[in-house]
Amino acid sequence: MTPFAEALAGAERWLLPGACLTCGASVGPADPLICPLCQSRWRRLPEPQCARCGQPRPGDPDPCRFCAPWPPALDRARSAVWLDATAREAVHALKYAGWWRVAEVLAVPMVRLGMVTSETVLVPIPLNPKRRRRRGYNQADVLARALAARTGAPVDTVALGRTRATPTQTALTPEARRANVAGAFAAAGVRGARVVLVDDVLTTGATLAEAATTLAEAGAASVGAVTFARALPPVH
Ligand SMILES: [Zn+2]
Ligand SMILES: [Zn+2]
Repeated sequence: MTPFAEALAGAERWLLPGACLTCGASVGPADPLICPLCQSRWRRLPEPQCARCGQPRPGDPDPCRFCAPWPPALDRARSAVWLDATAREAVHALKYAGWWRVAEVLAVPMVRLGMVTSETVLVPIPLNPKRRRRRGYNQADVLARALAARTGAPVDTVALGRTRATPTQTALTPEARRANVAGAFAAAGVRGARVVLVDDVLTTGATLAEAATTLAEAGAASVGAVTFARALPPVH
């Protein structure tokens, strides 16, 4: 296809998705890109949860092990849904299929977490510049803008930057993830701000923790984090 034809095909898809992005059921042009049935299948993280990290802790009296390795800079984190097969497809559509408008749907359960208000500043986790160029956008930026549209919170996409590219975290152990992102960010212009970091998925929180440390060192008054999905705990 010529670049023009490609752009046109993209525009058609954008105007008339026709089918739910995760199940293929037909949807109208004015409908959300993920049908209500698929949205209803997303599983919220159950209560009770750790007050700090939001990890469900059924009757666990010990200090939370999930957020124990996090630095004090990361005050609080919440995720809307578990990263199960259905949620994973929604994230995939946002990240790899170029359906950035799907962020409008993903933002709805994220707003319900109550982390974002007009008093907070939304700071998306930056992508490696190379990956950003390849994808054409940063999925965390798009999510942050969708959250902003619903809450009136400002988005700051320049407060946090990458100092270096980091290899993908997918195959790494929690310890290796922390080492992988150490010193990966630089922050400026956040003195006194109540920052809420935005990302699509929380796995161990290593990236959010490193970003929070950097923002706190740059003078942020507090740093929280909100993600659409959270990795399912390993099965015992
Ligand atoms: Zn569907
Ligand atoms: Zn915790």
